[in-house]
Amino acid sequence: MTAAVEARARLEFDVEIRQETTPLSAEDRQRALREFDIVMPTLGDQFDAASFAGISAPRCRLLANFGVGYNHIDVDAAKTAGIAVSNTPGAVTDATADTALTLMLMTARRAGEGERLVRSGQWQGWHPTQMLGLHLTGKHVGIVGFGRIGEAIARRCHFGFGMSVSYLARSEKSPGFPAVRADSLNVLAASVDVLVLAVPGGAETRHLINAGVLAAMRPKALLINIARGEVVDEAALISALQTGEIAGAGLDVYEFEPEVPLALRQMEQVTLLPHLGTATEEVRSDMGQLALDNVAAFLAGKPLISPV
Ligand code: NAP
Repeated sequence: MTAAVEARARLEFDVEIRQETTPLSAEDRQRALREFDIVMPTLGDQFDAASFAGISAPRCRLLANFGVGYNHIDVDAAKTAGIAVSNTPGAVTDATADTALTLMLMTARRAGEGERLVRSGQWQGWHPTQMLGLHLTGKHVGIVGFGRIGEAIARRCHFGFGMSVSYLARSEKSPGFPAVRADSLNVLAASVDVLVLAVPGGAETRHLINAGVLAAMRPKALLINIARGEVVDEAALISALQTGEIAGAGLDVYEFEPEVPLALRQMEQVTLLPHLGTATEEVRSDMGQLALDNVAAFLAGKPLISPV
């Protein structure tokens, strides 16, 4: 937790703050459910059905997740065990959209590759056809998942870069600027210059981007993923990049995170970030404060602010 969040937590509650940054082990999860009234987990802490099944009468009554995505928590199993779940929507939206734009620009304009060239000491100077990339202004972006983050990405693309926006979502949206809802994922994939993923993870969206969708994309198109790694069939993505089915990818998340396949790490046409979506001091503090607001509401017997 950031210092501000830690200070509030210590002031208002009797807390134990875990210092390790690695995910909770199965043993840690059992202890968390057995010994604490409330647990604030985050992504990587796999509260799957087995975590709850192992404990007959958990002391824990709330998992106040630190993060909007909760695909690491089996919410049905938690509820069956009498444990409520909350998350931190909204606090993460702008920062994650900014990261999507960072990946779009870096990948389109070959920024990572250029940076590596300069750092290598091999750069021989400007010339008219050096490292030509994709001009993003005025291009067509397709957004898969048009919720808070998807819409924030679209807004940046429309107002900042004059891009036309299409999207895929389960329901029709009215964002207040032109955005066309696509009939299907394959139609969207085939029609855009940049396909950006902003859907939640979980069983429903696992491998939503598979070999078929990648094959539908244009050879000059880019895939950007700030959602969850499991949304993309990573092996199919590597193959599509190797065969030139698509031109590049910008990734903040990985299917087997934090493992990033060597094949991806060796490709110049991909931008690879270490899950930086919400990584700013203010945003991590806002996320922590919202998680603690949920804790405070729960303890006061009030409705959760952002229940899952
Ligand atoms: P949100 O507001 O709930 O938006 C999710 C969108 O996905 C909605 O438009 C929803 O459609 C759509 N959707 C859900 N299931 C779908 C499906 N099967 N097919 C097509 N569309 C589907 O969530 P959010 O706040 O924008 O966050 C989205 C995700 O971003 C999170 O769940 C999290 O995993 C990820 N995230 C990543 C980072 C990072 O650090 N990289 C940071 C924050 C969040 P409807 O609106 O029609 O229901």
